[in-house]
Amino acid sequence: MSFSAEVKAELTRIEIEKNCCMLAQLSAVLRMNGDLVIRRGNFGINFITENAALARQVLKLLKQQFKVSTEVVVTRSRRLKKNNRYQVRILPAAEVLPVVNSLRLLPGDDGRLENDLLLSPCCRRCFLRGVFMASGSVNKPEGDYHLEIITSNKNFADTILRVMKYFDLPVKLTDRKNEYIIYLKGGDYIINFLSVIGAHNALLKFENVRVVKQMRNQVNRLVNCETANLDKTVQAALRQVESINFLKSKEQYWCELTVALREAAELRLAYPDSTLSELVELNDSNISKSGLNHRLKKIERLAIELGMERK
Ligand SMILES: [Zn+2]
Repeated sequence: MSFSAEVKAELTRIEIEKNCCMLAQLSAVLRMNGDLVIRRGNFGINFITENAALARQVLKLLKQQFKVSTEVVVTRSRRLKKNNRYQVRILPAAEVLPVVNSLRLLPGDDGRLENDLLLSPCCRRCFLRGVFMASGSVNKPEGDYHLEIITSNKNFADTILRVMKYFDLPVKLTDRKNEYIIYLKGGDYIINFLSVIGAHNALLKFENVRVVKQMRNQVNRLVNCETANLDKTVQAALRQVESINFLKSKEQYWCELTVALREAAELRLAYPDSTLSELVELNDSNISKSGLNHRLKKIERLAIELGMERK
């Protein structure tokens, strides 16, 4: 099951407590995936989804809120990889007009939603939940942090945008081929959205994966840094040993070196694999790390001045 499907499955299991919220959620779902039909002057509503649990929920909410006759039609798709489609139909009748009105499903109603149906924060949450269930998707947390909601209605897209902004979500809108895509980026914001719509299990899962991912990135960074440092240390030690051996092979020069330089050289030769800090600790005399570094660098310079060729 995709992460989106998991989120939606969790959302359809949430029991909505208040009537105001049921209407808000139903309105969102029907507006996204529903069509108004008119037969003999009466309204009917067709709602289509591939999500069986969502179809059941719509049917249940309709029955709880309104007295309407409904029928459910399941069409099996012949195309491979296509899921069944569930159609919930509210049959055209005079009783449907109050449904259309109270759910604000008429085309001109878009701009008005926030002034009546979506006055309370509880209803705004349920509205967003409905919108997401009907036409939203979110990448699994292992991938890029991306969540989107698609609608073909510009005014409705603007409404969704405003309601999401009400919850401080930095949403953006873009369009492509008659479709409006409302999208949200960033792990923190997606977590906030999941919290707003009540997908708490999905949120926890998202958060867990994100923490592991962040930790892995951090560990990788540290390992890379350490590898780079280790490399540098090894390279430097190799150069130093090479320079010291060169000076030793020129006995005359070796004997002319100061005691301090010769001590540093012997120390390096005795522990060719040690880091500077380790050498400082191994050494009896009170030389600092930078002091030792300075002496070893000087030895390298001398070797080069005296004609050593770097390999
Ligand atoms: Zn409410």
